[in-house]
Amino acid sequence: MDEVRTRFAPSPTGFMHIGNLRTCLYAYLYAKKAGGKFILRIEDTDQGRLVEGAVDVIYRTLEKAGIEHDEGPDKDGGVGPYVQSERKNIYLEYAKQLIDIGGAYYCFCTKDRLDTLTGDGGIKKYDKHCLKLSKEEIDAKLQAGEPYVIRQNIPTEGVSEYDDLVYGHIAVPNADMEDNILIKSDGMPTYNFANVVDDHLMNITHVIRGMEYLSSTPKYNLMYDAFGWQRPTYIHLPPIMKDAQRKLSKRYGDANFEDFLAKGYLPEAIVNYIALLGWSPKGNEEKLSMAQLKEQFGVDGLSKSPSIFDEPKMRWLNGEYIKAMTPEEFTAVALPYYEISDIKGMFDYDKLSKLLIPRTEILSEIPDKINFLAHFDRFDVSMFEHKKMKITVPLALEILQDVLPIFEAQSDWTDEALKNALSAYAETRSVKSGQVFLPVRLAITAAAVTPGGATEIAELLGKEESIRRLKLSLDWLTDSQSKQL
Ligand code: GLU
Repeated sequence: MDEVRTRFAPSPTGFMHIGNLRTCLYAYLYAKKAGGKFILRIEDTDQGRLVEGAVDVIYRTLEKAGIEHDEGPDKDGGVGPYVQSERKNIYLEYAKQLIDIGGAYYCFCTKDRLDTLTGDGGIKKYDKHCLKLSKEEIDAKLQAGEPYVIRQNIPTEGVSEYDDLVYGHIAVPNADMEDNILIKSDGMPTYNFANVVDDHLMNITHVIRGMEYLSSTPKYNLMYDAFGWQRPTYIHLPPIMKDAQRKLSKRYGDANFEDFLAKGYLPEAIVNYIALLGWSPKGNEEKLSMAQLKEQFGVDGLSKSPSIFDEPKMRWLNGEYIKAMTPEEFTAVALPYYEISDIKGMFDYDKLSKLLIPRTEILSEIPDKINFLAHFDRFDVSMFEHKKMKITVPLALEILQDVLPIFEAQSDWTDEALKNALSAYAETRSVKSGQVFLPVRLAITAAAVTPGGATEIAELLGKEESIRRLKLSLDWLTDSQSKQL
């Protein structure tokens, strides 16, 4: 069997839609699973839509996503060029061949004439007017430099059919298809032609793309057949939806890969999540690395029903990736968030990471979670009252007075050691451990809600700072008590 060759063929629009990235990922996984090649091709024939820097977005995305192409514009060798605008002459040459074999024709119709066309049900359809031109008429017009396009010559009768690996048997009556433009008046090909020529010349064996091309594929097959080329195998993918009615779109601000990175998602978690949007592995495992995806991916797991993009689910999965990180790994990705938070430079970042790893789903939550550490302001003592745990302000005060010498005597200032010391104290004092840990946490943070418990935060603050804060809290609590007397 031929080597499997798949391709990703993005148009450089300036951003990477999550749906396109999924197509790219599946094409990559399919090739890699089969030990084949994955090719990157830039489809930039729509010169009016070119966006500065858009090709860089494509490279950046592939790199961040961990998807490596074997051939492409930036690689040596292969069957390039891999940028369509650099292949203009190739398309023209093949379009002329297609004309010679009756699969296409020159069309000189003016816009005014096209505007007068009417079709069934008000849908305009080209009427093959120029197909009737004689060879002499065509030559004369070409010689006179009349602007032209080249159109595909679709049979008016019969049915075109093929089998898609996801959608099954597709049959489209030829009469329903239009003689689309293959070469535009500026000499550039349209997608309708370029995809066929390129997929053939690049030896693509499996075409994996969005289902919006499902019903135009018969047209492309007519060209493969006319040229006598082997048709590729087709794998069309269902759309990714925002909800039952709406597709994920740039307009709703929920479709762009780089926006998710900016929100604090890890690229590997995004890739893992989108791999599951339309494909299910055989097992129940949801957290799958790229290596596992490459091993497990297969067409039989693909679904033809649209999948709904569930951001909370992706957030959860991101949290799972974070939980699997070492403090050092987490610090590396969290650093920009530490640096914009109020604690910038105040703590040992790896220790801070230890506190955050079990409690963070996406990185952008970080500043809100840690800003409290930078502030220590006089509190309202009622914060210490806790009915359910039977903590009153006087009890908290007593306990904290006992804790101060314990803290001062403590030489091993780690979460573990501090936990042991406070638990031992709770036991001797015959109080519940929560009756010790809660007041201590409040006393060293001055914040009602914090990520992390008393001793974790104490470790992070360090001995000196923890004692300084505890003493201040003792003063404020004592002060409030004496005022009450
Ligand atoms: N440039 C097309 C797109 O971005 C590619 C479709 C295909 O993969 O054939 O939709």
